[in-house]
Amino acid sequence: MSAKLIQGTEIREEILAEIAAETAKIKEKHGVVPGLVTILVGQNPASISYVTLKIQTANRLGFKEIQDNQPENISTEKLLALIDKYNKDDSIHGILIQLPLPKQIDEKKVLNAVDPDKDVDGFHPVNVGRLMIGGSEVKFPPCTPAGIQEMIVRAGVETQGAEVVVVGRSNIVGKPIANMMLQKGVGANATVTIVHTGTKDIAFHCQRADILIVAAGVPGLVKPEWIKPGACVIDVGVNRVGEKISEKTGKKIAVLKGDVDFDAAREIAGWITPVPGGVGPMTITMLMKNTLKSLKFRLERAKA
Ligand code: NAP
Repeated sequence: MSAKLIQGTEIREEILAEIAAETAKIKEKHGVVPGLVTILVGQNPASISYVTLKIQTANRLGFKEIQDNQPENISTEKLLALIDKYNKDDSIHGILIQLPLPKQIDEKKVLNAVDPDKDVDGFHPVNVGRLMIGGSEVKFPPCTPAGIQEMIVRAGVETQGAEVVVVGRSNIVGKPIANMMLQKGVGANATVTIVHTGTKDIAFHCQRADILIVAAGVPGLVKPEWIKPGACVIDVGVNRVGEKISEKTGKKIAVLKGDVDFDAAREIAGWITPVPGGVGPMTITMLMKNTLKSLKFRLERAKA
């Protein structure tokens, strides 16, 4: 058996087309577009390329995009004042602070200063609490877990009553996706197990999984014999395992590998995500979806 590939690159295009269409409708009816500001402190090359991709995507969708670059030596107080300015700006619906921040910055204080109703990353404690409560309380599900759930739903994988095993318990992937999959509702209502480095027998739990979500950051951690035949395998891991010359550009690029032994796993699984081109492209897509949602919440509040 060869597993069906769940391609993030294709699902991204579907979702971006939906966001662009809804944005155009809102613009016509209300004369407003989603506004996203990205605050970048310093010149970290990885952050710059990630932020550039965000700007390109936002522009393509017809969003208002502000790229606010700040010097490496900015103080916590100045950054807090900047966030306050955007919190009060009605044309901005999403505020994104690109991490990592320089050492002199009180990162927790800065992240917690973002208005939870503009926290489109979904990491503010208020939004983490809303996610835990579930249902209509949820405003901004964090982007990578939201992308994972979309992929599962759009691939037509049954989640109702499914055994879901999540490898990894980070605050940005493992814990939120586990929480989302156990809620009542579409694309969830599953029985969820989380495994981590303290788990006695990881293979035993993985072998029970109808849906196996792996976010450990360990290349090839999940062996083919850990996979239940026909299972849906979502590989979140992005591990740099070397470098190669790109055929397209002739430049050096990283060789990326997931947390799952892909070639062997695809002969056993029912569905599988590739690395790269699987979960990766979904994160920025869901950030755009959250920014659009934020504008819609604002319009609803204005009506009430
Ligand atoms: P993280 O914060 O390092 O957390 C990794 C988790 O995996 C931890 O809970 C750790 O357990 C667990 N783990 C590590 N090795 C393990 C092992 N041998 N057996 C069992 N559990 C193990 O990582 P993260 O931020 O969640 O990211 C995970 C991976 O996803 C990385 O490769 C990252 O690059 C990728 N990622 C991709 C995207 C995307 O595609 N958009 C977004 C985010 C992350 P302990 O808690 O016990 O230490």
